[in-house]
Amino acid sequence: MLFKNIQVTLKNRPIGYPKEDDFSIIETEITELNHGEVIVEVIWLSLDPYMRGRMSSAKSYASPISIGEVITGGAVGKIVESKCPNFKVGDIVEGFTIGWQTYCRIVSSKLRKINEQLAPIQTAVGVLGMPGMTAYFGFFDICRPIPGDTVVISAAAGAVGQLVGQLAKLSGCRVVGIAGSQEKCNFIKEVLSFDQAINYKTENIYSKVKEYCPKGVNIYFDNVGGKISDDVISNIAPFARIAICGVISQYNLTEAESGMRVQRALLTNQASIEGFLVFRFENKYEIARQRMAEWLKEKKIIWKEDIIQGIENAPKSFIGLMKGSNFGKLLIKIK
Ligand code: NDP
Repeated sequence: MLFKNIQVTLKNRPIGYPKEDDFSIIETEITELNHGEVIVEVIWLSLDPYMRGRMSSAKSYASPISIGEVITGGAVGKIVESKCPNFKVGDIVEGFTIGWQTYCRIVSSKLRKINEQLAPIQTAVGVLGMPGMTAYFGFFDICRPIPGDTVVISAAAGAVGQLVGQLAKLSGCRVVGIAGSQEKCNFIKEVLSFDQAINYKTENIYSKVKEYCPKGVNIYFDNVGGKISDDVISNIAPFARIAICGVISQYNLTEAESGMRVQRALLTNQASIEGFLVFRFENKYEIARQRMAEWLKEKKIIWKEDIIQGIENAPKSFIGLMKGSNFGKLLIKIK
């Protein structure tokens, strides 16, 4: 069978914030499969901040997307053709390299079958997928919470941040979230039950963190870097643990920013700071997935999605993600 495929490819390497013109939308065809390959009809596409790094040629932990190549990305879809005995037509799968396209011809070893009983299938790229695993292992393994700790989270209303805060509450911690709008601040306080929220666009971050964390910040889960992080790190408590999960405030800079020198704060507080990539914990994903699924079922955690229809809206939505226009986990509904 012949499948007409709509793909979003990289036209130019973005300089600063990406523009719609940095992407092309093209139509291609998928035909013959080789042994071991399948065709996935994409249902849900996940848009994630790390994709900005892949659009740049700067050295990173993964190689960049080439000009003309499909934008990389995780997705959930249905097998519509298979030349692999382990996958049959109709199976629902998740793959980290499916990319921004409506169909994907892919070697089946790059796919994971989804247990549809656990939760709605799109959670396989959300709370039960990469962002969920990031929150779980970043918080439990890197931050090592102790009940009573005061936890500060940046990008607190986003895919990872909303979960870290709820895991912290489940662990008996006090939680202060930092986000970029009043609506997001209201959500994390009123719906997610964080103890305090700081709107970094309208409030003085340093003095608000000081006010809300009078004994200092025991844990800082950093999704953004930059000035916000300087202000939080200036307020850490003795033996604080700082997890560097992401630095989204830096992804679109055209010149490096200068900021605080953190060594003194780390030294005098005997604090630790650690960057992590979620893939480090890949061999433990199943344990976390089961536990998160139970918490979801029991409504101990809530999961907010921001759903946009249509692959043609992926570039615009991705640009919005870089500027905070998403509210919750950003997903493109393809089918
Ligand atoms: P989110 O859903 O949180 O979306 C990104 C959010 O970042 C925006 O909504 C916006 O929220 C905030 N933001 C954007 N620009 C700025 C800025 N200049 N200053 C402060 N905040 C900003 O995305 P994710 O939850 O998927 O990702 C969060 C972070 O975690 C990212 O840095 C990402 O790269 C990182 N990450 C790291 C992983 C790892 O393995 N280490 C894995 C997954 C994600 P607001 O309106 O509040 O500004």
